[in-house]
Amino acid sequence: MNIAVINSGSSSIKFQLFCMEKEEVLAHILVEKIGEFSSETFFEYGDKKTSIRSVIKNHHDGLEKIIALLSEYEILKDFSSLGAIGHRVVHGGEDFQKATLINESVLKKIEALIPLAPLHNEANLEGILVARKKAPFTPQIAVFDTAFHSHMPKEAFLYALDYKMYEKYKIRRYGFHGTSHSYILKQTAKYLQKNVKELNVITLHLGNGSSACAIEKGISIDTSMGFTPLEGLVMGTRCGDIDPEIILYMQRALGLSVDEVDTILNKKSGLVGICGKNDMRAILASDEENAKLAISIMVRRIKKYIGAYMALLGRVDAIVFTGGIGENASLIREKVMQNLACGIEIDISLNEKNSLFISSKKSSVKIMVIQTNEELEIARECMQFLNI
Ligand code: ADP
Repeated sequence: MNIAVINSGSSSIKFQLFCMEKEEVLAHILVEKIGEFSSETFFEYGDKKTSIRSVIKNHHDGLEKIIALLSEYEILKDFSSLGAIGHRVVHGGEDFQKATLINESVLKKIEALIPLAPLHNEANLEGILVARKKAPFTPQIAVFDTAFHSHMPKEAFLYALDYKMYEKYKIRRYGFHGTSHSYILKQTAKYLQKNVKELNVITLHLGNGSSACAIEKGISIDTSMGFTPLEGLVMGTRCGDIDPEIILYMQRALGLSVDEVDTILNKKSGLVGICGKNDMRAILASDEENAKLAISIMVRRIKKYIGAYMALLGRVDAIVFTGGIGENASLIREKVMQNLACGIEIDISLNEKNSLFISSKKSSVKIMVIQTNEELEIARECMQFLNI
């Protein structure tokens, strides 16, 4: 069965077509800069790669372009022959704990969640609406970033705020990157030859957006992102944890508007805020003091989360790195693991090779590097939903 996965962002559509019998990628298409003067489409199938510049006004045109390419290269005639289309939806709120068949009522709920994730859910919804028009009879399934964290205990997801804030306004920790943490958990189980239900793991998804997750017996029991994807680790442009009073100070004492503060927290902070760069490769190559400082602040925050999650979990089977930084930046992994307590020890040479296992033989906990694949996880969730 062929399954398409659509990850629709505000100005991009990431598309992958899988043949699920062998979990093989048949085509990978990325449409970027939608709505700009000149959009770019990157197309990969088999061992062929091309990129095309054209005007793509909106998501509708973006999907049209994708269908045209698939048809031109005789990969797929139209979307109606697909077994299912899986959609990434960032925020599922408290309504969605698993992959869900999209119907009118689900659409309304995803729409109602836009204020909780304005940058993401609106764009996700746009992709769904266009795909439904293109393939009205194909099952379309929403896979939520928040779903994997939906079994966190109340003491993990509740903030110590006036309880009404939760009861009335649903202000709580939701957690994100769930599809990635879930995929990594399953891969870890495969490599350790254990059942996911036996595993206690700390997963570290370190990319432009970063989050840590404490997984106990296969269930996310805590995660660093919160009500929004701003909380937690130091990220490319996001600050992660700060004293909330700083936000009030910026508004009251510095006279900044809500939008200005929002821009500072989400776009001008994190690595870029400290050293002016958010590309980890450029930061690692730089001799500037602030580049080193940015790395130190980021690493220290990750260490603190590992320590906290070890305390929560008691026994930890593996600490797993993933995401663009987690998978590739051996120096970051080395610094994170330096002088970690409890007999956890990295093997420098395995680490430099980005090996699957990078812990030393005598390390009390396995340290691993696993490439994430959120699109494949979404396709697998679709198969599970269809009961195939
Ligand atoms: P996103 O959150 O946008 O999906 P990615 O998971 O692709 O982000 O991660 C992007 C980050 O990974 C960037 O900071 C990039 O510099 C970093 N990265 C990618 N490749 C390498 C590498 N070889 N060495 C160090 N950092 C890398």
